[in-house]
Order: sequence, then structure tokens, then C-alpha cells
Amino acid sequence: MSELRELYQEYVLDHGKRPRNFRAIEGATHRGEGYNPLCGDRITLQLLVEGDVIRDIAFSGAGCAISTASASTMTETLMGKTLAEARATFGAFLSMVKGEAEPDYDALDKLAVFAGVAEFPMRVKCATLAWHTLNAAIEGAEAVTTE
Ligand code: ZN
Repeated sequence: MSELRELYQEYVLDHGKRPRNFRAIEGATHRGEGYNPLCGDRITLQLLVEGDVIRDIAFSGAGCAISTASASTMTETLMGKTLAEARATFGAFLSMVKGEAEPDYDALDKLAVFAGVAEFPMRVKCATLAWHTLNAAIEGAEAVTTE
């Protein structure tokens, strides 16, 4: 468990400092804004969807290392996936960080590193902000504030 925790810390620091897909998308088809008032994290998420495939996904904004690392990993994981796969992964991620289910490592892949967040209820909203924003973006809701 301490190895997993170390891995998690290294991972979050790395992605927090050097987020992947941290940019804007020209001609984005979907866009979402997310805000986590508990921590002050803000995210703008953009997607380029063709048919039902996510051709490009990127984010910008300012937040803590966990929210940034989570958004970074989410974009890496969902690149090239279908919207149905994205929704399924959202569900699996949510139940993992809320500690409601044993992580589904096949579905979660790299995202499993965030399993440790379940031990820190205050940080769950940091880890899920990007995902709620994604859900809002693909459902056409645009803005989401976690409560
Ligand atoms: Zn945060």
C-alpha cells in the first residue's frame, strides 16, 4: 500500500507540474466549464468529436495538483475513445474514488493510480472535477459546479 501511495504522489506531482493535453482546441465541438468551490479548482475542457469518437480532448484552467493531474490523465485515457466508452470510464472512476467499488483495473488502466483519493474525502471533488466537466460537455450542459 505504501508503494502505491508513493506511486500516486510521484504521479500527481509529475502530471500536476507537466499536464498532458493542456491547451485549447480550435474548432472544438464540445466545451465544458467546471468549478470546485471547495478547493478553488477551475477547468475548461474542450473536445473534438467526430461521429461518436473523441478525436481530440484538451483542457486549460488553474487548480491544485490533484485536479490538474486528474484532468491530464483523463485526456490521455479518453483520446480516441468513443463517447460510450468515456461515459463508462466516468462511472468506473467515480465509484473508485468514492470508494464504492473495488477498482476495475482493466477499464481504468492508468486512472487506477487515483484509487488512493478514496482515503481523502476532501480531495474527491478535486479528482472528479474534470470528469463532471466532461459529462456536462458531452451532455451539452456546458457549466458544472461540484457541490
Ligand atoms: Zn483541488
